[in-house]
Amino acid sequence: MIQLYIPLNFLGVMYREIKQSLTDLDKMFTLLEKNREVDDAPGAPALQVREGHVRFENVSFAYDPSRPILHGVSFEIPPGKTVAVVGPSGAGKSTLARLLYRFYDIDSGHISIDGQELRSVTQASLRSAIGIVPQDTVLFNDTVEYNIAYGRPGATRAEVEAAAQAAHIHGFISATPKGYDTMVGERGLKLSGGEKQRVAIARTLLKNPPILIFDEATSALDSANERAIQAELRAVSQGKTALVIAHRLSTVVDAHEIVVMEAGRVVERGPHAELLARGGRYAQMWRLQQSGQEA
Ligand code: ATP
Repeated sequence: MIQLYIPLNFLGVMYREIKQSLTDLDKMFTLLEKNREVDDAPGAPALQVREGHVRFENVSFAYDPSRPILHGVSFEIPPGKTVAVVGPSGAGKSTLARLLYRFYDIDSGHISIDGQELRSVTQASLRSAIGIVPQDTVLFNDTVEYNIAYGRPGATRAEVEAAAQAAHIHGFISATPKGYDTMVGERGLKLSGGEKQRVAIARTLLKNPPILIFDEATSALDSANERAIQAELRAVSQGKTALVIAHRLSTVVDAHEIVVMEAGRVVERGPHAELLARGGRYAQMWRLQQSGQEA
């Protein structure tokens, strides 16, 4: 009986391993599926990032032709600057981030980096130039080290640790019994939203791309965590061109420019102080958030 039990038990483990690999593959295919919406133009050259000047010009877009989402959106992010996008839920903020990463092609207008239209360059070169810190980071069922090194396959342990240190997650990792060999993901150590976002920041630091997209988590972080993530974000985006999708206005105060979106349109644009002084939509949102915080 025991002779039969051991192979069966082994098979059970194998089955779980394979099933898990399939779940990971499934996630990969879901991502690839998205990429299938766009194709490289025949003979497309690689994107050459010289300074990292991002420009949206009169961009219109619909996921489904019967429901336009963006209507003539224009703004630009000068090299090395941070532009924040704010606005109510459903305004089209995350859609801008997806378009910059070219998950979808736009219906009209132009999106360019250093004068090169996204549609005209290879997707691989575009995506290697952009780092994304998403709202909800997907962690692989693997070690902490693997999950961070994913930003730059082949990175050494020392490089992974340096990135984790800069993302302020090194202390947390070191405190676990297996440190960087700790398994994370569905079967391993569960990380909080803030910790996951720090893993994504460490990944992005390793990748070191010239352009960054940061999609701020909608879930409420406690204010100490929020301040810490914001400080890390500032460190990561130093000298890089960054598009920040912000849900908390406290994040955007220092941005070079704030783009206020409503129902797929830019309704206001400018730096924080200028928008406050204008007493328009942004000033109203600011007052509301301030009174919400006080309450
Ligand atoms: P939030 O602050 O809630 O994240 P958002 O401003 O980022 O909102 P988007 O995610 O850009 O909003 O969505 C804009 C609109 O596009 C919404 O009405 C949404 O329902 C729609 N939308 C988003 N993704 C898709 C999709 N894959 N297919 C069809 N419609 C979509």
